[in-house]
Amino acid sequence: MKVGLSIGGGVSAMEHLEPRELAADGFASVFLACYEDEMRWHAEAAADFSRACQAAGMEVYAVPLGYGLINDPDPSTESLYVREHPQNCQIDSRGRRTRKACPNSPAFLEWFSSNMRTLAWLLECRGFLWDEPSFYHARGAWACRCTWCRRLFFAEHQREMPLEISDEVARFRRDSLLMFLLAAAAAIQAVDRRLLSVVMPTASAGSHEAGIAADALGPVADSSAVGALSVYVPWQSAGRDMETAVRSTYEEAAAATRKHRKETIIWVGGSPHPRDRLLDALQVASNAGVEHLAIAGHQTLTASVAYDRFRPSLSRMIERVR
Ligand SMILES: [Zn+2]
Repeated sequence: MKVGLSIGGGVSAMEHLEPRELAADGFASVFLACYEDEMRWHAEAAADFSRACQAAGMEVYAVPLGYGLINDPDPSTESLYVREHPQNCQIDSRGRRTRKACPNSPAFLEWFSSNMRTLAWLLECRGFLWDEPSFYHARGAWACRCTWCRRLFFAEHQREMPLEISDEVARFRRDSLLMFLLAAAAAIQAVDRRLLSVVMPTASAGSHEAGIAADALGPVADSSAVGALSVYVPWQSAGRDMETAVRSTYEEAAAATRKHRKETIIWVGGSPHPRDRLLDALQVASNAGVEHLAIAGHQTLTASVAYDRFRPSLSRMIERVR
């Protein structure tokens, strides 16, 4: 089993990490958060770090965050694009503009693709991870009902888009996100066709709310936009038994990807605190047959004050499950 580390803090987090030490601890991959507003000025620092990780023998995955906020689970992330182009953002069922660009807006798609091509040129990496691509949804309101979405829906169904999320609307939202991911994959693969497009469906909401989510992995795994599927196991926040959650999440994801021979990456939250049971989770995942496990929560793990004391036992466990 390959064990990876998610480095979520942007360029300032990269400055505090030494790729050779991470590789010596046994990490086989890193997932680097690349924030839109940071990449304008500090792309070179991210590129240097990515090169150093590759040189140390680790696989690097870029995780673009911001960039219109379609791919972004964190509501506090900034996106200059969203601030400057409200006209290309999603409109919810109450007629309000949201802080998320619309995946059906041609102007946004062009800007997004061009930015992903640039990022793919800059970073030496194995692939890109699209983190929880979703439509806006909150307390009874949903998006998107912008001109482009309504026009597309009308062209497909010969009638107006309803105000409720009917099955047709749910399918339209899902297919819109899959088309967006296809454009995202095409953008990075125009630079290097070997770049892997990894999709992480949201785990905190259902597909009816978000458009695509971990409760319906089949259509996502079937899409040619998806080179590998990544699934988060939120057992702590969901109050689930860790072993059952890790096993069943992996089995569901592997069942969806197996027929296409696509890779499955399982994510667990981690910290040195015994309540997070990180070492046990690694052992359980390895026993369940997981091939690639990523540890989320760089802030709670490598940036934690207890990390130095925890490192030797983590490293021994990574060695054992490798
Ligand atoms: Zn729209």
